[in-house]
Amino acid sequence: MYISTRGNHKPVTASQAICLGMVPEGGLFVPEQIPGLSMEEIRGMVDLPYPALAETILRYYLDDFSPEEIREATQAAYGTNFYHEDIAPVTVLEGLGAFLELYHGPTAAFKDMALQLTPRLLAKAMRKGESARELLILVATSGDTGKAALEGFKDVAGMHVACFFPDQGVSRAQELQMRTTDGKNTHVYGVNGNFDDCQNGVKEIFSDSGFNLALARKGWQLSSANSINWGRLCPQIVYYFYGYFSLVQAGRIAMGQPLHIVVPTGNFGNILSAWYAREMGLPIGKLICASNENRVLTDFFTTGHYDRRREFFKTSSPSMDILISSNLERFLFEMNGHDAELLRSYMQALGEKGEFTVERSLLKKMTDLLWAGSASEEEAAAEIRRIYLQWHYLIDTHTAVGAAVYDKYKAVTGDETPVVMDATASPFKFSKSVLEALDDAEMPEDLDELQIADALAVCTNTRNHPALEDLDRRPLLHERTIRMEDMQSIVEGITEGTSAS
Ligand SMILES: *Cc1c(COP(=O)(O)O)cnc(C)c1O
Repeated sequence: MYISTRGNHKPVTASQAICLGMVPEGGLFVPEQIPGLSMEEIRGMVDLPYPALAETILRYYLDDFSPEEIREATQAAYGTNFYHEDIAPVTVLEGLGAFLELYHGPTAAFKDMALQLTPRLLAKAMRKGESARELLILVATSGDTGKAALEGFKDVAGMHVACFFPDQGVSRAQELQMRTTDGKNTHVYGVNGNFDDCQNGVKEIFSDSGFNLALARKGWQLSSANSINWGRLCPQIVYYFYGYFSLVQAGRIAMGQPLHIVVPTGNFGNILSAWYAREMGLPIGKLICASNENRVLTDFFTTGHYDRRREFFKTSSPSMDILISSNLERFLFEMNGHDAELLRSYMQALGEKGEFTVERSLLKKMTDLLWAGSASEEEAAAEIRRIYLQWHYLIDTHTAVGAAVYDKYKAVTGDETPVVMDATASPFKFSKSVLEALDDAEMPEDLDELQIADALAVCTNTRNHPALEDLDRRPLLHERTIRMEDMQSIVEGITEGTSAS
């Protein structure tokens, strides 16, 4: 069963948690108990191909799904939709570490790893409940989630997806990816605001009970594809097992040996999934939490004081430009021994004052297993250049933040434990920044980002990601940009068939 981090909801099944997305009264669903695996059980999974491994792991969590349902969903999600047969291949760079490439899905970012599966779980979960006829998925996106959700949900019967992204806050390729999405049930809007504004707008719509009741009367229900939905987090646990096993098979680590994980972090979903894998018994050592210049998490894990009242920086790793890391709530709840009352007080303070402080003992407990650091724009760019020059391996701007923070970790601690770094996006998704980093020079303003992708492919002799080719030749199907205040009425319009995007 799943319980609320704020103790304000009765326990629900996995399918209910997935349908609801978040706790309607505020709060997030977490598993009441995390399944613990023996080393024997873990060893038994070493050779499983990705879809079978996903099935095995998910069965521990999806309590009210049948094994057949889980198999169907995982086989479909990780069958033919990825551009790499290993789904999440690991590349080892001698003398540096390994990269877990999570970007071979249909939208070239790690969000596909979950979002190819979540809609299939959601469709099955909906059939279990007494639930609504039409489900509307609301997505606030800093770029990558949006497209991944649109691709995952498009043309799934009974589902609609509306995606809100910060206008001016995503890369050109990201914007084109979203605005060119086909499918009869997709809605895409630029919003005049930053990512936090989009996310807050969506959260407000979710927690407006009157509005939700009115939708329910019309047979509509809202849900979320953001990583606040357990159906997003849970599939991400799988690739940590897969990455670990790949390194065992490659003879890089022995079964049972600790492996550090480096995660370029935004909403704290990806790193939290690594924590769940660790709790289940996978021999993960430290979780290294990497932030860009929006270093609210680094400061928090250094001081115990979370303070969102600070300047918001637009960086070249936009999917990490976040000042409110939603999944931190889950981590705090787990680390403070499921003290929902304490959690409520933090979240209330965060909502009202924009800050909260945790006790020393809790901070210590967290930093015993998590190391946080941040990288500046210059440091991340230098890392792209260094890794390309030394290993002829291209990484994107987000992955670069992780790699740069890992350098700092090693410099500070001298720790030589084997490491795997999440490669969260294809470098071609952020070609302009990547090429500028390689050249150590600014691109002319008038060069189109898509031409730059071609240039990057040529100059590094690397193939562009297939999902990103031809982007500029697809028709723009969603051209609107809206005001923050209008998000709710747009949502209402979608349920009435009157909001074009
Ligand atoms: C979403 C995203 C992140 C941040 O992941 P979280 O789960 O939000 O911490 C990092 N890199 C890329 C490329 C992303 O799309």
